[in-house]
Amino acid sequence: MIDFRSDTVTKPCKNMLQTMLEAEVGDDVYGDDPTVNQLEQFAAHRHGFEAAVFVSSGTQANLLAILAHCERGDEYLCGQSAHNYRYEAGGAAVLGSVQPQPVENEADGSLDLKKLATYIKPDDFHFARTKLLSLENTIGGQVLSLDYLAQARAFCDFHKLQLHLDGARVYNAAVALEVDIRAIAQHFDSMTICLSKGLGAPVGSLLLGSKALIYKARRLRKMLGGGMRQAGILAAAGLYALENNVERLCEDHQNARYLAERLNEVDGFNTSAYQVQTNLVYVDVASEIDIHKIAKKLVEQGIQITPGYQGMRLVTHLGVSRVDIDKLIHALNAL
Ligand SMILES: *Cc1c(COP(=O)(O)O)cnc(C)c1O
Repeated sequence: MIDFRSDTVTKPCKNMLQTMLEAEVGDDVYGDDPTVNQLEQFAAHRHGFEAAVFVSSGTQANLLAILAHCERGDEYLCGQSAHNYRYEAGGAAVLGSVQPQPVENEADGSLDLKKLATYIKPDDFHFARTKLLSLENTIGGQVLSLDYLAQARAFCDFHKLQLHLDGARVYNAAVALEVDIRAIAQHFDSMTICLSKGLGAPVGSLLLGSKALIYKARRLRKMLGGGMRQAGILAAAGLYALENNVERLCEDHQNARYLAERLNEVDGFNTSAYQVQTNLVYVDVASEIDIHKIAKKLVEQGIQITPGYQGMRLVTHLGVSRVDIDKLIHALNAL
């Protein structure tokens, strides 16, 4: 299968599987898993944080961050289209009694800081206490500029807010900007990284932050049933991903640009409303086209897409090559 649905569909390569097979393991709830410890220490140091915790998913990493920063009756500011507002089943509200205060994202994915300031609640018992600003980078495949991140940091310092980054695809941002990951990470009090998206590990995310924050997050992880035992098998894949699969993300970005160009050659497909900055490609599909029928036909030819009209999303990753893109274009033109 050639799978354009997401970069979560990647499968571990032989070398990754080999390191998993050879991983030294122990019971991580006792703190005894040397490979998990190695990953957490490596990740904390690599990204310029005091500590890290390895967790099952990006959703759990965001939830732990919000619950570790906030208490019941607090709130976090986030984008209307933020993953940790829209796509995480309302976890912070349901499990932490922390309310989101969403604010419309700008066209470039950022949150206007002047607008954000008007959403910060005064210290008054009518209101939830505004504690945290949560950004996302990349967001919808778009990269937040380093300049903007510095402004967001200054904004949070001024308003005495904590600053969190949902960095599920933060390595795509760093590679697109051609900067070290720390140039992005340095602005945040906490940051998540998905190892299981473009980085190609089968399972796992990291939450990074201060020692005190990660100490709190570990308790919350246990509470949520996220304490894992011989998790070194998975941590080994994460280490492998961080060591081997970062630089190659630029291939995914090049392939995404190529995919967007080629899609424009197909009648009824138009990507001109969208910029390709990283590995996500958005395309508008003319309403005369039965894209759901096309998606079914593509499956018969071993190609998977998520059908849609306005802003249909296709994703490049280590399982998609230029030849695969040519196959998709050929199949679409032949239908
Ligand atoms: C995928 C994703 C997550 C959540 O990751 P899961 O591992 O699927 O829970 C969080 N934030 C963003 C921006 C994502 O793309």
